[in-house]
Amino acid sequence: MLEDRHLYAAFLAAMQADPRITHIPATSVIAQEALAAGISVTLSDGQTLTARLLVGADGRRSGVAERAGITRSGWGYGQTALVAAIAHERPHGGVAQQFFMPSGPLAILPLTGNRSSIVWSETDEAAKTIAALDDAAFLEVLRPRFGDFLGTISLCGPRFMYPLNLTLANAYTAPRIALIGDAAHGVHPIAGQGLNLGLRDVAALAEVLAEAKRRGEDIGAADVLARYQLWRRFDSTSLALGMDSVNRLFSNDNPLLRAGRDLGMGVVQAIPALRRGFMRQAAGLSAGPFGKLPRLLAGRPL
Ligand SMILES: Cc1cc2nc3c(=O)[nH]c(=O)nc-3n(C[C@H](O)[C@H](O)[C@H](O)COP(=O)(O)OP(=O)(O)OC[C@H]3O[C@@H](n4cnc5c(N)ncnc54)[C@H](O)[C@@H]3O)c2cc1C
Repeated sequence: MLEDRHLYAAFLAAMQADPRITHIPATSVIAQEALAAGISVTLSDGQTLTARLLVGADGRRSGVAERAGITRSGWGYGQTALVAAIAHERPHGGVAQQFFMPSGPLAILPLTGNRSSIVWSETDEAAKTIAALDDAAFLEVLRPRFGDFLGTISLCGPRFMYPLNLTLANAYTAPRIALIGDAAHGVHPIAGQGLNLGLRDVAALAEVLAEAKRRGEDIGAADVLARYQLWRRFDSTSLALGMDSVNRLFSNDNPLLRAGRDLGMGVVQAIPALRRGFMRQAAGLSAGPFGKLPRLLAGRPL
């Protein structure tokens, strides 16, 4: 499990070390215009930049997608995730835990030392009430859910709150535009797949663009971008809907569904090859049933 702040610092360092990348911090894109041979963006500091392709990596509420007229489909889960770092008495042994409760899952994800990150989904109302509690009262509510398998627990960082929804862009491309990451697909965090999906987009788009460049094609041309969309959209949508079903299956107390999911978990636990398959898929190392694994994710150069 890798904390976002470390990943962020590593990406920043890699960008700064590469003379071909210009990072313009503390500035946002406020407008864009697709032209026949390229696309221009206007920044909040008044600068205008032009390129053959604009990649929208601006998250679930992607302004790039919105300005391009790309609509979105999805729904709210009526759940909000409470996120915090927890210190505990005993070591976690590098094992992630997820407890399923009718109101939503509680994931306990190992960090360095005797610390774990929790992603605790509750109904919106309950989450609002819990978030308003002071730290001591918050821990009182958490303790019976967390259990005592890691000994005594305490908070070791700020608490955050994220309302959960599914939001899928109805197209991953528009003239001179490609969407990647949450800008293309914001999914339920139940399986921690959001970042992996985004990395697959990056690797697939890089591969499509590198091949187009080798063939002498315009990297922002509609037929080039269509190859990227064809590669990624079905895979991401099926995974997003899969996570949606897992959340529905596990976030309820229906005895029939409970029996079914216990049986399913038992089967996965009993068949090592199946378990390994799920683990490889969750780690982003396999293409999954519908996709082709991009070269970069297989550790091969473009
Ligand atoms: C509670 C919760 C838990 C999660 N847990 C996991 C997990 O365990 N594992 C996992 O893989 N994923 C997890 N995810 C999902 C993961 O956080 C996202 O999938 C991932 O952050 C998406 O990355 P992104 O770069 O596409 O978008 P974002 O992280 O949203 O980044 C978008 C960036 O675009 C910038 N931006 C937006 N608009 C503009 C503009 N106009 N101009 C310039 N910049 C702009 C923003 O400032 C931001 O930096 C979780 C999500 C939630 C809500």
